[in-house]
Amino acid sequence: MAEVQTIHDVACGFCGLGCDDLTVEVEGRQVRAKAPVCPEAARLLRRLDTADPMPRVAGEVIDQADAAKAAHQILAAARAPVIGGLGVDMAGAGAAVDLAIRFGGVLDHYASDGLFRNYAAAQRTGWLSTTLAEVRNRCDVLLVVGDDPAATWGRLFERLFPEKPLFAGSNRRVIFLGGAPGEKTRAQLAGASVVHHATTDAVAALEALGSFTAGRRPPGSCFGGIEADTLAGLAEELRNAHYAVVTWNAADLDDGDLVAERATALVDTLNVTTRAGVFPLGGRDNIIGVNQLLLWRLGYPLRTAVQGQASSHDGTLFATQAALADADVLVWISAFRPEPPPAFGGKIIALAHPETVFDKEPDVLIPVGTPGVDHAGTAFRMDSIVSLPLGALRVATLPSVAEAVRCIAEG
Ligand code: SF4
Repeated sequence: MAEVQTIHDVACGFCGLGCDDLTVEVEGRQVRAKAPVCPEAARLLRRLDTADPMPRVAGEVIDQADAAKAAHQILAAARAPVIGGLGVDMAGAGAAVDLAIRFGGVLDHYASDGLFRNYAAAQRTGWLSTTLAEVRNRCDVLLVVGDDPAATWGRLFERLFPEKPLFAGSNRRVIFLGGAPGEKTRAQLAGASVVHHATTDAVAALEALGSFTAGRRPPGSCFGGIEADTLAGLAEELRNAHYAVVTWNAADLDDGDLVAERATALVDTLNVTTRAGVFPLGGRDNIIGVNQLLLWRLGYPLRTAVQGQASSHDGTLFATQAALADADVLVWISAFRPEPPPAFGGKIIALAHPETVFDKEPDVLIPVGTPGVDHAGTAFRMDSIVSLPLGALRVATLPSVAEAVRCIAEG
């Protein structure tokens, strides 16, 4: 029997929160996370001692070199490829950009909807954003808009509200404007006071809150289901805060772009007399890092098309779903989790997590290892200022995305 090895301070690259204090047990090929861990990390880190799936071409098992050759041939004949998914570490993202430069293609991440809703606000007015460390150590009033984000970021409030922040006092307050905080969230916020205001329209409530904060009383007695006097009281609280922060998950809100815009305006108003910042939630599967890499390499964010030596960006036309309408080949890359490709009638080359379940057999499938489990890599945290080194937990038997892409490019 293999010896059980316990590894401490493991960094996690799945949701973008960047926890780096996980304890993981490795026994031969098996991997299991121990506390502190959230259900998502426990599920995505878990590995059993099972054989890896082999590459396939049209459903037939084949070796990796021949699968890469088949992918190369498809791409060489492609008219309009989309390189999507992009759940990859930084090396994999660099290789995907190389692939687009070599064969042409639209580059997009599968979770980019939230990012672009936030961009809509940031492009119009700019924003004063803060970091996880600032929220953790300085924020005394946190306004959470929308549903409880702990469903997606399991340890969010544990990270944002530690027992002993460096600078914030003991009188910390969290206001939920939208869904009620769950039990887990309340437990993580045991040291803070928590209030909840349900709303039928977060945009209307935020807009009225912004007016009250600016010293204006908007006409009406109720905004988004919240009484005007309640919102006036919240505005007073925000104005009196030393460091107020507004957070939301744009991907989860129907009007995520409008929430981002109203939250940004509210924070702008507060900054006239006190200190405040926005803390937009996101960052799943290294989307922030992949976006940064595109900015460095191409000068444009995700949803960019590369053709010849030129790139062009269009946040609507080059979103995966829209781009697929004109595409003939989809290169689907998802190394962090078994995220399946969207329905697509053209050819599919999948560089996929070994547990991915496909509705339709890809034309070429190359199973890839997971950064932070099978091989080392780097991923960015959601606030984009910290890149996390992800270590290998076991000896890799599957190629990384960077290695697989290199084989495809060489043909
Ligand atoms: S909250 Fe996010 S970063 Fe932290 S352990 Fe869970 S999945 Fe990983």
